[in-house]
Amino acid sequence: MRFSRGRNFLFRVPEGRELLSYINEFAEKNNVLIGTVTAIGSLRNPKIGYFDEEAGEYKIITLTGTYELVSLLGNISLKDGKPFAHLHVALGDSDGMVYGGHLIEGEVFVTEVFIQELLGEPLERKLKENGLALWDAED
Ligand code: ZN
Repeated sequence: MRFSRGRNFLFRVPEGRELLSYINEFAEKNNVLIGTVTAIGSLRNPKIGYFDEEAGEYKIITLTGTYELVSLLGNISLKDGKPFAHLHVALGDSDGMVYGGHLIEGEVFVTEVFIQELLGEPLERKLKENGLALWDAED
């Protein structure tokens, strides 16, 4: 799929907000239907997922305490007609060790987010047989 660049957004999320739902709400409020997302900061008690291919579902990893949000990478596309953020994170502990996975939820201590809106044909997630909501693959 080819897209052209739309608007750029750079902002800080208020302390105490849940990051994934905040980004989904931000995208909906600003009508960002497709885009890329990056962020850095710090999260409290984050939950991350590891997709278990055999089980066809996410194993949830719950981390307790405050973690550096070393890196967040993701994208926004449509799911059930609404903007939906798919975000992966690397989270550093007090020893500098890093956990990583699919962001399920995390309370913001400090988070700085950059969103690059993309303009073009709608990109939709659809539930696939493997249990994941995915885009159709490029041929
Ligand atoms: Zn994922």
